Amino acid sequence: MKRIGLTGGIGSGKSYIAGILEKMGYPVYYSDKESKQIMDTHPFIREKLIERFGHKIYTGQGLNRKVLAELIFSSEEHRLFVNELIHPLVRKNFEYWCSEQRSPIVFNEAAILFETGAYQQFDGTLLVVAPLALRIERVMQRDRCRQKDVEERMKSQWSDVQKIPLATAVITNNGEFPLVSQIERSIQKLLSL
Ligand code: ATP
Repeated sequence: MKRIGLTGGIGSGKSYIAGILEKMGYPVYYSDKESKQIMDTHPFIREKLIERFGHKIYTGQGLNRKVLAELIFSSEEHRLFVNELIHPLVRKNFEYWCSEQRSPIVFNEAAILFETGAYQQFDGTLLVVAPLALRIERVMQRDRCRQKDVEERMKSQWSDVQKIPLATAVITNNGEFPLVSQIERSIQKLLSL
């Protein structure tokens, strides 16, 4: 079974592509959603986060994402601590999920794979790209937010130009090239790895 990292910058359309992949019958693991779930509920993570940041890091409903985001943005040390704490558990969870799939190829959707080096843990990567202006417009519409907010979130991500040389296959999601044929071609390439 090929394990493929599915990635792309904010608003590139990776979740949109993930939806098409699922409709085509390919299993997709949603890393960001799973890591949120783990942070909300895992007793070990809870204990370690409270130990470092205090009880304010959780609300009655789960992790206090606003507080965590502020802490992470203010300190690279905090960001690394949280990543190193969560990553092994998400990885284990993904491996367990893979063991339950019956498909020659599965996808792991994650916003930042190249930036963290995590792409090396996959058999290959599928990168979704789109022009910056279109990505900003999509996110503004989807999240009802301002251009400035989107640009702020983009700052921590690499540009497409930096990512393309590292990707195994690339899908251009600019509304011009049909997606299903691009996906089919990419899957052939990824299966042959
Ligand atoms: P994020 O990193 O913020 O999660 P993403 O890369 O997962 O972003 P999506 O949520 O898939 O991006 O796409 C952004 C928005 O653009 C969504 O509302 C999505 O429905 C829309 N979109 C993406 N691609 C297309 C497309 N080809 N046709 C129509 N709408 C699209």
